Amino acid sequence: MYCSIFGHELLVSKDVTHHVKEYKCKHCDFQMTTNGKGKLTPLTPKYKEINSVLESVYNKRRGKKKSDPILDY
Ligand SMILES: [Zn+2]
Repeated sequence: MYCSIFGHELLVSKDVTHHVKEYKCKHCDFQMTTNGKGKLTPLTPKYKEINSVLESVYNKRRGKKKSDPILDY
């Protein structure tokens, strides 16, 4: 199998936040994500859950900044 010889070729599949991204291998369905320490870790169901929470918080904040920049902090 390709990946076991050459390793996974990861492409960004999703921007969760500015710092956290999800990656997917080009050749198989292997997925990874950035954890809280900025290191890559396999995308387990637990991390998927964390990322979806992060994403909604991040999007909310971004939306809030646009509409209400003064009261953001
Ligand atoms: Zn792979």
